[in-house]
Amino acid sequence: MQSLKVLRRSPTADYIATVVESVFLTPTIKSIRLRLDRDEFRFLPGQSVWPKFERDGRRFSKIYSIASSPSRCPEIELCVSRVGWSSAYIQDLQMGQTLPLRGPYGLMTISELPPRSRLYIAEGSGIAPLKSQIDWLYESGFQYPVWLIQSNPETPDQLPYRNYWHRFSQTWSTFHYIEVINHHPENVLARQGLNLAEWDVDICAVGDRPDQIQATVLALGARLEQVRSEKFIAF
Ligand SMILES: Cc1cc2nc3c(=O)[nH]c(=O)nc-3n(C[C@H](O)[C@H](O)[C@H](O)COP(=O)(O)OP(=O)(O)OC[C@H]3O[C@@H](n4cnc5c(N)ncnc54)[C@H](O)[C@@H]3O)c2cc1C
Repeated sequence: MQSLKVLRRSPTADYIATVVESVFLTPTIKSIRLRLDRDEFRFLPGQSVWPKFERDGRRFSKIYSIASSPSRCPEIELCVSRVGWSSAYIQDLQMGQTLPLRGPYGLMTISELPPRSRLYIAEGSGIAPLKSQIDWLYESGFQYPVWLIQSNPETPDQLPYRNYWHRFSQTWSTFHYIEVINHHPENVLARQGLNLAEWDVDICAVGDRPDQIQATVLALGARLEQVRSEKFIAF
């Protein structure tokens, strides 16, 4: 296991992953745990892997965030929402089946303990890269407040990892979880009375939703250089 306070990533390389667990978190979102074939894989929380292969004449070209802490390497967890061919392919992999992939990729990361409070806002499977960061901060004994505001537009009353976050709230005194049912998370955030000037903010959601959420975050005083967002887009 690597140091809990400062992280490094390995160079981007090819791996073969084997499915060791695949469970539904909501009716459309699955957690898929993979074991990589080599121990050298290291990533920064917030990074992704890119399955690379051809099957039935189709090229797999979609990328997925890692949802687990780097401390779990060489195991990684994906959190995948079923929307089309690629996501269905990954969700339907059986225990023991393999998936060629390349990684790590991505810039919305942390590599050491940040110097201020952190606000995370996630919709749907956008929780994946944020969970990786939150898990690592928890393991590392991060002392500043960590807030998570989560919604799920696909099935608004069923949030991925909901019970997991409630357990965190009970054991981590500076962690604050707000589950958002049938609303936009930014509207619920606006009611919290936070001045975000001293906060780091990371946002992850599908399509143009991160831009909409970011507009509210900035209106609440967050500094642009302390706000990051990741868009889950299909390309
Ligand atoms: C950096 C990055 C990280 C990503 N990480 C994840 C992840 O951790 N989990 C995950 O489920 N997806 C993730 N995605 C999206 C993923 O790469 C695919 O785009 C998604 O699975 C759709 O591929 P598909 O072939 O199944 O569907 P397609 O046939 O390509 O259809 C996609 C259509 O479904 C809609 N849609 C609904 N939900 C999503 C969604 N989550 N992502 C994209 N489009 C969506 C969009 O309108 C889109 O046009 C990520 C994307 C990026 C760019």
